[in-house]
Amino acid sequence: MSARLPAAVEASAAEIAAKAAAARRAAAAWRRTTVGQRVKALRGLWRALAARREEIRAVVHEETGKPLVEADLMEVGVAGLLVDWMTSAAPRVLEDKAAWKPWFLFNKRAYERRVPRGVVGVITPWNMPFLIPFGDAFAAMLAGNAALLKPSERATKTALWLEGAAAATALLPEGLLSVVTGGPSVGEAVVDAADMTAFTGSVASGRAVAARAAGQLKPALLELGGKHPMIVLADAALERAAAAAVWGACANAGQLCVGVERVFVEAEVHDRFVELVRTRVSALRQRLDGRDADLGRLAFAPLFDRVQEQIEDARAKGARVIGGEIIDRAELLMAPALVLDARMDMRVMSEECFGPVIPIMKVFRAEEAVALSNAGPEGLAASVWTRDLGKGEGLAAALEAGLVGVNEPATHYALGALPFGGMKKSGLGRRHGEEGLLAFTQAQSVLVHEWPEDAPDPWWFPYGEGKARLLRRLLGLP
Ligand code: NAD
Repeated sequence: MSARLPAAVEASAAEIAAKAAAARRAAAAWRRTTVGQRVKALRGLWRALAARREEIRAVVHEETGKPLVEADLMEVGVAGLLVDWMTSAAPRVLEDKAAWKPWFLFNKRAYERRVPRGVVGVITPWNMPFLIPFGDAFAAMLAGNAALLKPSERATKTALWLEGAAAATALLPEGLLSVVTGGPSVGEAVVDAADMTAFTGSVASGRAVAARAAGQLKPALLELGGKHPMIVLADAALERAAAAAVWGACANAGQLCVGVERVFVEAEVHDRFVELVRTRVSALRQRLDGRDADLGRLAFAPLFDRVQEQIEDARAKGARVIGGEIIDRAELLMAPALVLDARMDMRVMSEECFGPVIPIMKVFRAEEAVALSNAGPEGLAASVWTRDLGKGEGLAAALEAGLVGVNEPATHYALGALPFGGMKKSGLGRRHGEEGLLAFTQAQSVLVHEWPEDAPDPWWFPYGEGKARLLRRLLGLP
């Protein structure tokens, strides 16, 4: 059973060095291709992978316990959407861009070229074991790099499947997409071997990766944890809001960085909202085999125990807990939990809770919830629920979060055109969007003198008073 998966093999220093060297060779060949050639090869790669969708969802389900429908829609389906946007946008985003120049440089050409970084270390978590490694590696390769992937030690099978399936297409240079497995020390070796790191994981690990990369003056893209506040106003469409709270908190069994982590509800509608949420939670279907299920198990034992401790902490501090029972500890199966009368001093309201838990707190004004949300260290996803879209967008703008929704839980990841990432401790930089593709490149500014072929520019030596006067006039100096 997946709950008892064997520990990941720790790649040796020699294996990591060999994979990094192969990645570097592949990157050297790949950077000479045009964007058009890369788009063609990578679209072909996606077609071949998508044709093996059944295998992807089976391995993802085995490693994580998520329902097959979630593996299908959230991992494979969303990956397809990202491929569509990235491959159609890349030629425009990555093409050379002519630069503005002062008129007296009329005889020169100035433009910005985007140059790949080389080898990108892609370090990923276990909760989306196909989508995140594939999506970030795909963007890195599209931008002209090789991807050296270090998946979570808790989800290596999916990544190894990806490595094998990509190699089987023979569409990419050997070593362009490769995998090394192991825990944090293998991650550290990948940061050292790569020219850039794209890291997704917890705040604590992100801080360590940032420090290590900074010590070597290498860039690191950081996509870290969140604490999504969902703010429900008295005029919200309550059926939709309640359904969103349940889906937002319990999709992927609550193991989503953007998932709803706490709900603030204005007092007038609090009791009605709670009833609607309660009815929907009781209708959730939970199964281990992933079929006809809304919800599966949690991913691993220490996480399971932490979620239970967070619920117990809330109970001990006076919350009313409905559900949340341990159904089968060995299989990591727990019932979804509603935590009512939640308060900010409870762990479920302040710590990331990676389980199917919906803490609900009554507030008297939405602005109070905005202030409480902004007081926390994270800033990944947040949402506002109201029929007054103008007011909702105003409150959303005041939220310190990289991904905000008005009457939307957090489906931003599927929109490849939208930059995805967090403010404050939730991350640095953005994946997706133009910014996300450009992040895997660096600017090379090119200036070409065209004519006259064999004459010096007038501002070179020798200086003289007459020439200086003319040049000052050209520069607009008084
Ligand atoms: P984690 O931080 O424990 O591990 C993530 C990855 O980092 C793993 O591959 C791990 O081996 C590696 N790692 C850990 N320490 C390292 C170090 N010092 N140097 C290099 N690599 C190191 O996180 P996790 O438990 O796998 O994932 C859950 C976390 O990821 C949650 O906090 C969740 O919110 C976050 N997450 C964020 C996003 C996002 O896009 N912002 C998406 C999914 C998950």
